[in-house]
Amino acid sequence: MLLDSDVKEIKGIGDKTAASLKKLHIETVKDLIFYIPRDFTLFEEPVALSAELSGKTLSFGGYMKAGSFSTVKKGRLDYSHVTFIHNGKNVYLTFFNMPYLKKQLDPSVEYVIRGQLEVGKNGAFSMTQPKLYTLEQYSSIQGSLQPMYPLTKGLSNNIISKAVKQVIDKVDIPDDGLDDLKEGCISFAQALSNMHFPINYDAFILARERIVFHEFVSFILQMKTEANETRNISFDKPLIETADTVRLLEQLPYKLTNAQKKAWADIRNDLESGRCMNRMVQGDVGSGKTIIAFLALIMNAANGYQGVLMAPTEVLAKQHYEKLVQMKAEYKLNINPILLLGSMSAKDKKSVYTSISSSEVNIIIGTHAVFQNKVEYKHLTMVVTDEQHRFGVKQREAIVNKGEKVHLLVMSATPIPRSLAMIMYGDIDLSLINELPANRLPIKNCVVGKDFRKKSYEFIEKEVHDGHQAYVICPQVEEGLDDNLENVVDYAKKLSSEFPSDIITSYLHGKMSLEQKDSIMQDFKDKKIDVLVSTTVIEVGIDVPNATVIMIENAERFGLAQLHQLRGRVGRGDSQSYCIFLSTKNDKTTMERLNVLNSSNDGFKIADEDLKLRGPGDLFGVRQSGEFGFTIGDIYNDSKILRDAADCVNELFKPNNQSKLDAIIAALSNSNINSVDFRTI
Ligand code: ADP
Ligand code: MG
Repeated sequence: MLLDSDVKEIKGIGDKTAASLKKLHIETVKDLIFYIPRDFTLFEEPVALSAELSGKTLSFGGYMKAGSFSTVKKGRLDYSHVTFIHNGKNVYLTFFNMPYLKKQLDPSVEYVIRGQLEVGKNGAFSMTQPKLYTLEQYSSIQGSLQPMYPLTKGLSNNIISKAVKQVIDKVDIPDDGLDDLKEGCISFAQALSNMHFPINYDAFILARERIVFHEFVSFILQMKTEANETRNISFDKPLIETADTVRLLEQLPYKLTNAQKKAWADIRNDLESGRCMNRMVQGDVGSGKTIIAFLALIMNAANGYQGVLMAPTEVLAKQHYEKLVQMKAEYKLNINPILLLGSMSAKDKKSVYTSISSSEVNIIIGTHAVFQNKVEYKHLTMVVTDEQHRFGVKQREAIVNKGEKVHLLVMSATPIPRSLAMIMYGDIDLSLINELPANRLPIKNCVVGKDFRKKSYEFIEKEVHDGHQAYVICPQVEEGLDDNLENVVDYAKKLSSEFPSDIITSYLHGKMSLEQKDSIMQDFKDKKIDVLVSTTVIEVGIDVPNATVIMIENAERFGLAQLHQLRGRVGRGDSQSYCIFLSTKNDKTTMERLNVLNSSNDGFKIADEDLKLRGPGDLFGVRQSGEFGFTIGDIYNDSKILRDAADCVNELFKPNNQSKLDAIIAALSNSNINSVDFRTI
């Protein structure tokens, strides 16, 4: 079996399972190996049940009470009830749709039962849908860590775990060349294997660190290589500023802020200098980065070249495209923009490819579909990436390889603590937009618990009746991954029965088709939808100034910087806006974290606090889910590894290490972990 083999070649995976795996973007053996568990379960020694253990997931031993098995039908479900005897006490178990257990259970055999213990008011023990093991079965897994994978409908943890087990030690995983860089480094292949099936927690942590190191070295190496390359490239024909941008600036309904003016001046200087631009514009959410990107692309187009604007989600790409088309009409701009998305039909794509290669169009807006091999540019000289940190190393490589000499401009709204930004982007020129447009009122925030839900709904209702709109954010797309988390689909249903019928509720998530996403976003912009329940797919860039409330469910599950981004969806116009962070946890650490947001609207301050508040060891709790294009690394939690990685890369760039550097670059390009696909969040 090869890394590129189809998952269907794995024993036990048929068409149906393969289809479910595809939903998780697992199509090849490689995808499967890089599918990292979200947590582990430790199968501890069976315990003696007591009331204090209420709510805990645990295992206990017991015998079935003979004749206690009964099944009743309620609606579409079969409910089976059976009583077990444990230390002389009854434990009541309930199973769904498993009437066949009756035949399998043997009252003379001791079982180990594992599940979440419920203790009734009268002190009775019960469990719902627990797992049953014979003593032999349990002792074979006792003390071991079992991986728990993010799931989707039609997949069980067991299916994934079994499949990984079958391939992990059999396929040949290419070496990444980094073993010698750090003392005590295990091989990349070993690390991947231990990521799934570690012998203990320490082994898992070591494995994880090794893979994070791989991700960080790849990233920093790529950034440094790019910077070195672009720095030495010169353009024979520097761009010149034309009347187009000057006229546009005069016609805009607002004046640029001073910080925007400065950023635009920096960019113009780069473009006029006759050298390659390699610049990042960093500015807090809502600081107005889009217009700066447009100005650069318009100047490039006016000089007769093609430029690309790449966004991390289709929703955002579409929004940028529509905005530019609207500006073209309104201000009579002399440009020819086109949209290119991965989910377009083959026929539509083909016609877009033709327009691009014939240089009919000069501004191409899209997702990373713009860098597929099939796209041939005619005079590509500029690549602007919005929210660039979300793109993985692979995508960056693809970009730079497309045009021979390209001006690179990256826009980033994620304020990164300065110390980390220097490590990650130290070789890039930086323009900071540290000022918001003057019409903005600071967002009013609150951090609340579940009890506040009703009040929040009333508040949203009032805002909607005042003519505004609202977002509600849930961490999950649909039921399945984790029952303790709210999901968009069910939540939207619940909300529409909660609100009076004149309030229109709808939902949005990344797993919808492009048409669906489009029509929902369009309806929201057109005020046909009042309350939009969404996953974090709207986190980046979405601009609907009439929305004034955002309520974030399970706020404890998100990183602070991410919450700040989400909050940035409101406060974009001149009305007072509000953000409700609803947490189902109210322990001290959670509250301390969320209160940082309550007391500050300044992204940079929040990022610094986030870094301070988090320590290593917070492996599964809060992650800036894929925010920097890393599959598992987290620049906050893993900041020490990030520093190590930077030190190693700096060492490699010393002149006498050239051959080592070349070898590592070659090895890495074979073994790179794919970056997360953001369209599906
Ligand atoms: P971000 O930096 O988050 O990408 P956007 O570029 O989406 O922000 O801008 C947010 C909103 O502010 C948009 O509606 C945009 O038209 C508006 N805007 C941009 N610059 C200014 C300005 N100088 N004055 C007033 N509004 C502005
Ligand atoms: Mg933006």
